[in-house]
Amino acid sequence: MKSIAQELLDRTEEAVWRRGEGYADKGKVRILKHDEKGIEAAVSGTKNYNVILKFVANGIRKQCDCPYAARGICKHIVAAAIVWDEFRGFARPDSATVHAETIQPSPISGPQLTRCFADPLNADLNIIRVAVDYFGFSHKPHAVLPKCPRIESREEAPLSLAEVKSALQEMASWNRRSSYNHYLCAGEMAAAFSELLEVIYRRLPATPPDEAVRIMLSCVDWYYAKFNNIIDDSDGVWVFPKTRIGRNVAALWKNHPDSAEWMTFNKAAGDLGRKWESEELDAEAVAGWQDITL
Ligand SMILES: [Zn+2]
Repeated sequence: MKSIAQELLDRTEEAVWRRGEGYADKGKVRILKHDEKGIEAAVSGTKNYNVILKFVANGIRKQCDCPYAARGICKHIVAAAIVWDEFRGFARPDSATVHAETIQPSPISGPQLTRCFADPLNADLNIIRVAVDYFGFSHKPHAVLPKCPRIESREEAPLSLAEVKSALQEMASWNRRSSYNHYLCAGEMAAAFSELLEVIYRRLPATPPDEAVRIMLSCVDWYYAKFNNIIDDSDGVWVFPKTRIGRNVAALWKNHPDSAEWMTFNKAAGDLGRKWESEELDAEAVAGWQDITL
């Protein structure tokens, strides 16, 4: 049994979370049905909304029939999650945890954004995530994507290819949301992929070198075959994951130049390079991506 609120925190905007807590405190949630896997609840607000929350094989099914829910997690879902957790004996996340783990939309300036693009490896990914909301041409509502796909973040845990593939698949699935928009969600997608690459970078030292090379190959492949096709690349947000792929491969190459997997890497990267970039790619060329700026 686990806390559902904890699982939802990092995919919810802080202001929405606080409103959901208010709803829970005011007794606006009525549980209609529940079992150990999930609940159905009626949440009263401007209107009555039905919320379904359920643990499923690869995550959480969450549904609310309010208009905001098309965009992301709404206050009704938060309120129902908190009430169901408390019903099962889980304390709700404290205020500091909520602040630290939720999504923070903050006003940003043009020079801040320029600095991000000038030094993509050290860019504040929170800025990339919300830039379009401040500088985009269209302000229509769009999906709010999680900060990072689900993945273990402890550095001492050896990483497996299966784990990374599952995280990449999760990100690919975000593209199927009805409110996903190739242009408006591009920054969030690039930031999430970059966050995943940061987790991979921190866990590489604990990972067997051959597996690590296979993992980075899967990232190069995903970058071309998926990422570039589910974002509008006109603003250049691809630079954030691309430089991180380069840095990760450079670190691996430096520490484990004799891994047998580099042959497979070079062959597959060569194929991808010819197909997508019309140039030869190998480990050395991919490592060079770390220095790209716009
Ligand atoms: Zn709702």
